[in-house]
Amino acid sequence: MKEIYLDNNATTKVDEAVFEEMRPYFCELYGNPSSMHFFGGQVQGKVTEARNRVAALLGASPDEIIFTACGTESDNAAIRSALEILPERRHVITSRVEHPAVLTQCRNLTQKGYRVTEIGVDEAGRLDMAELKAAVDDDTAIVSLMWANNETGVIFPVEEAAAIAKAKGALFHTDAVQAVGKIPINMDNSVIDMLSLSGHKLHAPKGIGVLYLRRGTPFRPFLVGGHQEKSRRAGTENAAAIIALGKACELAQNFMEQENTQVKAMRDRLQDSLMASIPHARINGGGAERLPNTASIAFEFVEGESILLYLSELGVCASSGSACTSGSLEPSHVLRAMGVPFTCAHGSIRFSLSRYTTDEEIDLVIRELPSIVERLRLMSPFGREFLKGKA
Ligand SMILES: *Cc1c(COP(=O)(O)O)cnc(C)c1O
Repeated sequence: MKEIYLDNNATTKVDEAVFEEMRPYFCELYGNPSSMHFFGGQVQGKVTEARNRVAALLGASPDEIIFTACGTESDNAAIRSALEILPERRHVITSRVEHPAVLTQCRNLTQKGYRVTEIGVDEAGRLDMAELKAAVDDDTAIVSLMWANNETGVIFPVEEAAAIAKAKGALFHTDAVQAVGKIPINMDNSVIDMLSLSGHKLHAPKGIGVLYLRRGTPFRPFLVGGHQEKSRRAGTENAAAIIALGKACELAQNFMEQENTQVKAMRDRLQDSLMASIPHARINGGGAERLPNTASIAFEFVEGESILLYLSELGVCASSGSACTSGSLEPSHVLRAMGVPFTCAHGSIRFSLSRYTTDEEIDLVIRELPSIVERLRLMSPFGREFLKGKA
């Protein structure tokens, strides 16, 4: 069965051109880029080219790009560094809807005596800017807020938030893992100090990330050892993956227009059709500015996991907003923070598209999903009561 892959916010297919770009750097051009000889130099040249390509996508300078092993490492390194740079400041600000790569680290900091504020969001998933303004003070070391949410696609006004943080002398970091490659980013015209991205969310392989560090921003490395990455991230460069990421960034720049027209049109068609054909459905974050590829839809009185199983039988890969913890189904922290009612949060499905998504794939979901949801509602006692009540 051929997969219909609508889970691109979880991970993406490696683009064939990206794979071709990295292929020679395993068995043929395997030199260490830090070596003095010509053989290492060849690899160093390609790593430099990759750094330039990543910088170009971000509107940054190549010396502001630090290669890491993943988005999670970049997030951890940014927050950790800020706390070491500003040791007298004991307050950290983030939001309630962050990825666990940021949220878990921040919550762990409370055990180390830090004050941690998690800014809330409204019912559309928009950041509470008034709460943010009131929270930042002279004790705040770092404000870390995601650029775009992985579950709902909701975009935060990170430039505005960064200005608020900087005004109080705090550092500002953004987890831009979902934003990079999908919406234009220009760090040249920004006050953001640090930004994280991850290769496998934009058609590069898993296990490569970047921490953007604004020129002049003080920094303490997370990994120490050799002098790689100008002593800001020790460890032999993952040259093949770096080269792949460079190519992926170049392609992302070329496809940006398509992402925001064709991919967005497919997403909108999926959303609008399902809203019209399935009663008691709503779009999570529908009232907010969102990524062009993401649709998180709540179907009331059904289990998201059950929908996923039926979809999976048809080859459709999507994701639910819930994580299964210790046998009980906990609705996602993002949807809970948005105040999505329990009966909706449980039945939420995230479809995340890519430039490989086709109209035929979207047609299949539009055709099949209404009867799946209806069947599941008839099977559940709550759903039956609900349908009777509405009849
Ligand atoms: C995927 C993701 C991460 C983690 O990136 P990895 O490279 O998988 O560690 C962090 N933040 C967001 C918003 C993500 O979507």
